[in-house]
Amino acid sequence: MMRSFETLQERFADLQLLRYEVPDFQLLPLKQKLYVYYLAEAALLGRDILWDQNCKYGLLLRQALEAIYTHYDGPKDDADWQAFVVYLKRVWFSNGIHHHYSYQKFEPGFSKEFLEERLRTTDNSQQTIDKIVELIFNPEVMPKRVNQADGEDLLLTSSCNYYAEGITQAEAEAFYADLKSKVDANRPPMLGLNSRLERKEDGSLYENVWRSGGLYGKAIERICGMLGKARKYAENAHQQRVIDKLMEFYRTGDLKTFDEYAILWVGETDGEIDFTNGFTEVYGDPLGLKASWEGYVNIIDHEASRRAKALSDNAQWFENQSPVDERFKKKECKGVSAKVISAAMLGGELYPSSAIGINLPNSNWIRAEYGSKSVTIANLTHAYNLAAKGSGMREEFVIDEETRQLLSQYGDVCDDLHTDLHECLGHGSGQLLPGVDADALKAYGSTLEEARADLFGLYYIADQKLVELGLTPNDEAYKSQYYSYLMNGLLTQMVRIEEGHQIEEAHMRNRALISRWTLEHYPEAVQIVEKDGKHYVQVNDYPLLRNAFGELLAEVQRIKSEGDFEAARQLVEKYGIKLDAKLHKEIRERYQKLNLAPYKGFINPRYKLVQDAEGNITDVSISYDEAYDEQMLRYSQEYNTL
Ligand code: ZN
Repeated sequence: MMRSFETLQERFADLQLLRYEVPDFQLLPLKQKLYVYYLAEAALLGRDILWDQNCKYGLLLRQALEAIYTHYDGPKDDADWQAFVVYLKRVWFSNGIHHHYSYQKFEPGFSKEFLEERLRTTDNSQQTIDKIVELIFNPEVMPKRVNQADGEDLLLTSSCNYYAEGITQAEAEAFYADLKSKVDANRPPMLGLNSRLERKEDGSLYENVWRSGGLYGKAIERICGMLGKARKYAENAHQQRVIDKLMEFYRTGDLKTFDEYAILWVGETDGEIDFTNGFTEVYGDPLGLKASWEGYVNIIDHEASRRAKALSDNAQWFENQSPVDERFKKKECKGVSAKVISAAMLGGELYPSSAIGINLPNSNWIRAEYGSKSVTIANLTHAYNLAAKGSGMREEFVIDEETRQLLSQYGDVCDDLHTDLHECLGHGSGQLLPGVDADALKAYGSTLEEARADLFGLYYIADQKLVELGLTPNDEAYKSQYYSYLMNGLLTQMVRIEEGHQIEEAHMRNRALISRWTLEHYPEAVQIVEKDGKHYVQVNDYPLLRNAFGELLAEVQRIKSEGDFEAARQLVEKYGIKLDAKLHKEIRERYQKLNLAPYKGFINPRYKLVQDAEGNITDVSISYDEAYDEQMLRYSQEYNTL
């Protein structure tokens, strides 16, 4: 019997698990269902790569903790056991021992004795026991996965597994500066993307490449096997060429092949099903070079895609009207192919915590010459919206009833639209001046890039053009986005950060930067006011806010186009990182009273092949009844590749 669909699932620590539905899957013909099925399997097979990238002891630790979890026969009401369960669920969620957003190592709520005893009864060597206990209990060991503190050696202070121990930031930067000087400066490959930097006996550095026969070879070979099966059910010959090229890249590890793959991939827009699979985003590397593994599969949402298409069809109009200096505008906007999709499977870096909009590829020159594909993931947004209803956030943090009305009337539609503008137009807009290094902003690059895309969206969401295109219902609706954006950037996003900590993650830094810069430069448009001991955002002049966002967009684009590292550093350091301790405390206390989880993630649906008596595949079923722990344990069994 099918249980009825419930969006809200488990809630623990600072996390809430949700389920997402894949509404169009059952309507697909069998061939397309099989294409989704095999791509989805391939999207799950890279999980262990990510665990190892996040921490070199990640897989060892996961195996040991899961053995304790499945063999435990003590009392269920034991406080140590209960704390252990929460700890393991957090580790699963983060694909490792560090928080997925703050990058800080988790603090265990159980005793050392409990862990030692349980590790002993599940057949671990004394060496393994010592290693794991030290890893979990010693706060000095691997305290942070990605450290971006200005002035520190970012490699020596980060515990991610992209660089062998002892390699300094200066050494790695020199290594890549040297590689960079030897490649075509106009069409540089994504140097460092698919390898671990290691040291030879003689002290020199080399890349240990992730490919078949190389590092992560076993996982990569299984992924390729599954991609080979998917290939048979592709919707068109172009998709088959994409898969062939991806498999060639996985075999050779050659970054030129990766670029050829990215170009083929970005050009494939006819199919209804699409995927990514591979080394993709670089947020997990403090130097922003090495990509974590991710995979996902999606199915087009025809109706909602019309909205995104209306934007990308007008991309050049938006580029031409933007408030940035003429020199930094793209003369010819290659259409950003934008579509709205339903996620059908989330894997690697996108599981369980997922982005809701994705724009790829990341190579700047490929984006300039071939454009990019941009998606917004409607079924995940839908799940978030359902979860937010009745949470009490607006009652607590929005300044007055009139503003709450504004948000409930236009909030959902404008949130979606801002994501579309960010992904379809924002990231694809603007150009670097000739000779400017795309990595010139270094550790500040990701934050500035997100700020650029957000500002583009904020500036245009208030434009009459969107009313003309039928995307916003009237010229008041944008105000809901302005209010909720500033409320989030100035106040509510702080709930995600523990007391005494600062803002680390690029998207959060970007939102703080935009909001606080605006607060400081346009006090007549927006202020923070106090009522009965509580602080609120008060917007006095919405049209003036648009000027503010336009002005900052022009400056952020200038910084990116000129590669002005010092200006980027100052903006991010001044507005994007530090928190006002008193305000932070107040916001967290108000939030805690609502008893909500600041972070959400998703449990995947489960697909199964349906066979007749002769063993012919007759259908692919989809079900939504797997529990969080069941799914995690099954993945560790079935997709155990390393
Ligand atoms: Zn973005």
